[in-house]
Amino acid sequence: MEDLCYYEVLQVSKDATTTEIKKAYRKLAIKYHPDKNQGDKEAEEKFKLINEAYAVLSDPQKREVYDMYGKEGLNGTSGRGGFGASNMDDIMDIFNSMFGESFGFGSRRQQSSTMNYMLDIEQEIELEFNEAIFGCEKEITVTYLEPCNSCNGTGAKDGELATCGYCQGQGQVVMRQGFMTFTQECPKCHGTGKTASEKCKECKGIGGIKKSEKVTISIPAGINNGNRLRIPGKGNIDRYGHRGDLYIHFDIEEDEHFVRDGDDIYIEAPVFFTQLLLSEEIKVPSLEGEVSIHLSPKIRDKEHFIFNNKGVPNVNNPHRRGRFIVQIKVIYPTKLTSEQKELIEKLNESFGLESKPHKSIFESTFERIKSWIK
Ligand SMILES: [Zn+2]
Ligand SMILES: [Zn+2]
Repeated sequence: MEDLCYYEVLQVSKDATTTEIKKAYRKLAIKYHPDKNQGDKEAEEKFKLINEAYAVLSDPQKREVYDMYGKEGLNGTSGRGGFGASNMDDIMDIFNSMFGESFGFGSRRQQSSTMNYMLDIEQEIELEFNEAIFGCEKEITVTYLEPCNSCNGTGAKDGELATCGYCQGQGQVVMRQGFMTFTQECPKCHGTGKTASEKCKECKGIGGIKKSEKVTISIPAGINNGNRLRIPGKGNIDRYGHRGDLYIHFDIEEDEHFVRDGDDIYIEAPVFFTQLLLSEEIKVPSLEGEVSIHLSPKIRDKEHFIFNNKGVPNVNNPHRRGRFIVQIKVIYPTKLTSEQKELIEKLNESFGLESKPHKSIFESTFERIKSWIK
């Protein structure tokens, strides 16, 4: 990645005020937040860089040093790494301390204090089309980890932990990237300073044993693919009895006729051309039963009839609903029996000149062209 200056990263000028910096950071941090860009490595890098820049520019002392000496000037200043956070957990700390967790991203994943496994777990469940729209109760089986008895949750044989050789028990290691140095949580012991010299056979060094439990969850109306539901206290348990949360993701079935787009529902209504001509009224199935549509000869193919507040309830605000949209599909016969052909010809005749609108208009045009090409 190109080495942008911190001001460029936050897209502010060199004389930006603290408020301007904070505002710019907030905007960018939300945009590149990992919860919003899951699995997007580029966004994650960007998010790290934004936080790195903010950690420096929001601190008047660090900013002064940076303005005078650049990034190099920040190396060796006090604390963990000159410019502040470098690993994702630290970055999330900055982010959360600044904004709290009010973004609706849900809380960050909690790591177990044994550091062998995460406390929070995730599970995907499948829902029928209607279950997602109207909400439902679901009993699911949750598989979680409970501290292993033979090693007391340490993952080490007989529960005996040794000092981590990688970080000499410090829990942190100093990393170098170009001319920058920063400390990072030890990847071997995950910051605890201790590792198992021999793995526990019972849990294969994980420190936890799989258990399962039936949990009934209540799914709010309007849930959609991409939403995440937090079930507190149903995650993994660590050796101190702390229990994480369960996060549910959804895989929602599609319907044969209704098409969902966010909180809007579309349905295609095929109508025969004679129904339009005769201005028939038709009933169209909707989420709540039916809606009626008054057809008329003026209606065109693909025309929309919009029913506000008859779509899907908004998952965050059930009083707000999306739209129910009927799209007309005009059907013409592709084949006529000789009898039908006769009838239509008769119909045509009864309209007289009206049945050939192009004729009266084109006649004079044809005349004019004749005079041009003489
Ligand atoms: Zn064990
Ligand atoms: Zn270590």
